[in-house]
Amino acid sequence: MNTTIEKELFEIVGDNHQMTSAETPLRPDAFDKSDEDKMSVIEEHFEVIMKELGLDLTDDSLKGTPHRVAKMFVKEIFSGLNPANKPKISVFDNSYHYDKMLVEANISFNSTCEHHFLPIVGKAHVGYVSSGKVIGLSKLNRIVDYYARRPQVQERMIMQIFNELKTVLDTENVMVIMEASHLCVSSRGIKDESSYTSTLQYGGVFNQKEFRDDFYRLINKEK
Ligand SMILES: [Zn+2]
Repeated sequence: MNTTIEKELFEIVGDNHQMTSAETPLRPDAFDKSDEDKMSVIEEHFEVIMKELGLDLTDDSLKGTPHRVAKMFVKEIFSGLNPANKPKISVFDNSYHYDKMLVEANISFNSTCEHHFLPIVGKAHVGYVSSGKVIGLSKLNRIVDYYARRPQVQERMIMQIFNELKTVLDTENVMVIMEASHLCVSSRGIKDESSYTSTLQYGGVFNQKEFRDDFYRLINKEK
């Protein structure tokens, strides 16, 4: 069991939403088991949690919940943990020689706070200037979606998306903005319903202010 001091520390880490690494902390044996085996273990454990809360699992409405939660965790909201689910991204040569900025704005994403397992809901804005490679537009959405489908902190999520885009497009010229409401801030703890969290990451040409200003203009933000 965890000591009282450790439990207090857990609260502090959660309330400050600290992250420890840009990589999602995964166990070495993370994907040794099949999805089906994971789902049956999670189902068992979630049933224990519900019973411990005092819920009657013979009730028709609750009976299937452990199974539904297990399936939702493995197949939906945490499916981005498994590299097998990473979107296959093909890039193309920039044959139209479009050499200015491309921005995909208002990419909706749903993620989950890794400190409280509550939703993070928001929008991502992604832009790049090609260094010779281009990518299908919907692939930008897919990359955001893949990294969102993990237990996350927003700072790590933006770094993972930023790094992936740089690798895939083989360029430093990438900029990402993420804006999100964290239910762990709005529905518990400080209970602030109106605040949202913004993160910004950029490199290459976006180190120049005029490129960032163009990006803001294209996503219709005041600079
Ligand atoms: Zn949280």
